[in-house]
Formats: sequence, structure tokens, C-alpha cells
Amino acid sequence: MKEDLRFEALKAKVVSCRLCPRLVDYREKVKPSAAYADQEYWRKPVPGFGDIEGRLLILGLAPARNGAERTGRIFTGDASSRFLVSALYATGFTNQPTSESRDDGLTYHDCYITAVVKCVPPGDKPLPSEFANCSRYLESEILLLKNLKAVLALGAFAFTEYVRFLKKSGVNVKDLKFSHGAFYRMADAPSVYASYHPSPRNTNTGKLTKSMLVSVLTKVKRDFSI
Ligand code: SF4
Repeated sequence: MKEDLRFEALKAKVVSCRLCPRLVDYREKVKPSAAYADQEYWRKPVPGFGDIEGRLLILGLAPARNGAERTGRIFTGDASSRFLVSALYATGFTNQPTSESRDDGLTYHDCYITAVVKCVPPGDKPLPSEFANCSRYLESEILLLKNLKAVLALGAFAFTEYVRFLKKSGVNVKDLKFSHGAFYRMADAPSVYASYHPSPRNTNTGKLTKSMLVSVLTKVKRDFSI
């Protein structure tokens, strides 16, 4: 089967998944916020999105309640998405600086983006069993990204989940620690980069500025040409 067909098959599997009863219940009953009261929410798992030939994989934690879980596309329609996609545009990874809806024309270049947990969790906190259940899909995505050279984890949870995957794959992860701007060149796996998550909690307080994120993405690009 060709790569894009495999991705389509994986996407179909993800979207129909009901493995985590707590998350299935939450996503199906989640109350729209007042600003979107007239909108139909997605209410399903949110698969990855982007350039399947890409060299960069970006990992977030999980769909946001009024972002991806509303629009049905990862990092779409909320403040975190706007912040992230404007930085990706500034570094040439997207064709436009905004990410508002599934049909807004956004495309990714050389970059694929996904969440380590594909259903919105209450309080943005997945349970260990939910991380474990959803890791099968992350593993499949990683194995299908044949040109992968770099993985950028947004936030400590995504970083930890990726490290878990590496460990399971037999990679030595002893020195890998999360901190903003951390970078690890690996002998037997794609390079690992880390950034604070672009959530309003971090961006509104100045913990993560656009120039900090652009600087991480610029480093990824520079390393591609080495
Ligand atoms: S979090 Fe992942 S494993 Fe759990 S129901 Fe959603 S898609 Fe399925």
C-alpha cells in the first residue's frame, strides 16, 4: 500500500477509536464555550495533519476543547494554534500564518503535526492509561513518516511520551531531559528538540515568546542543511 493510503487508513482508524471510555464520554458531551455556542463540535479523535513527506514531526499533547476538538483539525481555531502557526509560517513550514478551520487552505511544508493523545482530555490531563492506549497511533505515524529527521516536542508531556517511544524502540534515552530549547542529536533516531507548549498559559505570561519558538524552528531548519 502507498504511504498516503496508509496514512488515510490510519486516519480512519484514529477517527473511529473508542478505546478510552472516559475520553469518549467527555468528547461526545463536551459543552461548547459561549463564543462557539452555535457551532457543531467535531466530537471525535483528531488525527495528525501535514506533509507526510516531511522531515519534521511536531508533537503536541492533545486536542484543545475549543480548538482542534471544535474544528476537527489539530492546532486549529484557538490561541495556541494561532501562536504556533504564525511561528511556523515565519520559518517557512506553512503556506499561511493562520489556522482557523479545516477548509482554510492551510498546508504544511516539510512538517507533519500530531498530538500524543488524540482525544480532548478533561482539564488537559490525560490519564496514564490513555497515554498508553493512544501510543499505538503515534507509533504508527512515526513509522509511516519515512523522511523523518527531527522531532519537536511541545511541552514536557509530549516530550516524555516521545522518549517513551524511543526507549521502547531500543534507543538510549538516558541523557534526554525536557527544557525549552533543548536539542539532542541521536545516533540511531531523528534529532530531538523541545519547546514550551504554545498554550496561553505560557504565551500570555511571556514564558514562551514568538521569537523563542521561531528560534527553535530556525535551528531545526539549519540542522536540516548540515
Ligand atoms: S485517546 Fe486515543 S486511544 Fe483513547 S479513545 Fe482517543 S484516539 Fe482512542
